[in-house]
Amino acid sequence: MVAIATLGSHCALQVLKGAKDEGLKTILVCEKKREKLYRRFPFIDELILVDSFKEILEQKCQSVLEENKAVLIPHGTLIAQMSSEEIESIKTPVFGNKWILRWESDREMKEKLMREANLPVPKPVMEPKDIEKLVIVKRQGAAGGKGYFMAANEEDYNTKRNQLIADGIISKDETLYIQEYAAGVLAYLQFFYSPLKDELEFFGVDQRHESDIEGLARIPSEQQLKSTKVPSFNVIGNSPLVLRESLLQDVYEMGENFVDASRRIVSPGMNGPFCIEGVYDENAKFTSFEFSARIVAGTNIYMDGSPYYSLLFNESMSMGKRIAREIKIASETNQLDKITT
Ligand code: ATP
Repeated sequence: MVAIATLGSHCALQVLKGAKDEGLKTILVCEKKREKLYRRFPFIDELILVDSFKEILEQKCQSVLEENKAVLIPHGTLIAQMSSEEIESIKTPVFGNKWILRWESDREMKEKLMREANLPVPKPVMEPKDIEKLVIVKRQGAAGGKGYFMAANEEDYNTKRNQLIADGIISKDETLYIQEYAAGVLAYLQFFYSPLKDELEFFGVDQRHESDIEGLARIPSEQQLKSTKVPSFNVIGNSPLVLRESLLQDVYEMGENFVDASRRIVSPGMNGPFCIEGVYDENAKFTSFEFSARIVAGTNIYMDGSPYYSLLFNESMSMGKRIAREIKIASETNQLDKITT
């Protein structure tokens, strides 16, 4: 039987608990500084202790994973800490499509795939001098919102950028990405596409709580106006959300368009969990500013199963367990090559 492995961060607990519930061996690649934390959880069978997650590329680590016939579940930490080349060079079978992760990390590729999927994306702004409406300025990759800022015009952009450089939060030569700010209710739509069943499942929705942009609302405008601090969008945690049922039809359509577009653009397509992230405006129109082509940490809120999965499965089903179920079935029916890269 196969084993499930992942890096010790992000959604590792949920992924390994789900794997254990499916009767699979669980392996955690764990930084030594976090060993004490992860030893608390009895469903983790084996820890591979490392100084840095990059050791997953080394023979020593890969041999242990190979001996155990492990499938590696990629998550945000893998993307944040490794380059696309490094991820693509991982010898251990990666669940889903490791090639699509590059499309998540590179802003231009990301936008291309989103357009191909017909997702309504916010307008990109090429140069600071072209800023006409409120914009959000982002860094490359999954920076988790750290160092992002809003700007109303070129002067505002330069002031804030300079301040973040002075504070050591962003670097002088970093290419920043500017797009129009979309106002409304944030919704992070979580899906799972099963190539075994050729079926798209809608799993749930979460909202991210980001600091310190959220804290601003607690400060009276008088004090806000006096502050020169540039607020950030650093994710601290997530909370659940359910959508008006009338929105579900469009949600499935967006998910299906994304799966179809991925299949055309980056073979073998969008297999496994993914997330489409955006904002509903006052007319319930969705604008999507981002996707994640792997499990998102927002699924952690549904470790006991999500509302939408309770409609599809007669058991509590987390995203971690859903992944393990897919791997187990693929392994039993000799189809692992269909769900890993
Ligand atoms: P992650 O990989 O964690 O998703 P990221 O670094 O790729 O993060 P985004 O998800 O693009 O960054 O943006 C971070 C946050 O900034 C979002 O959760 C959202 O609150 C806000 N945001 C991003 N783009 C927009 C936009 N166009 N309009 C309004 N808010 C936005």
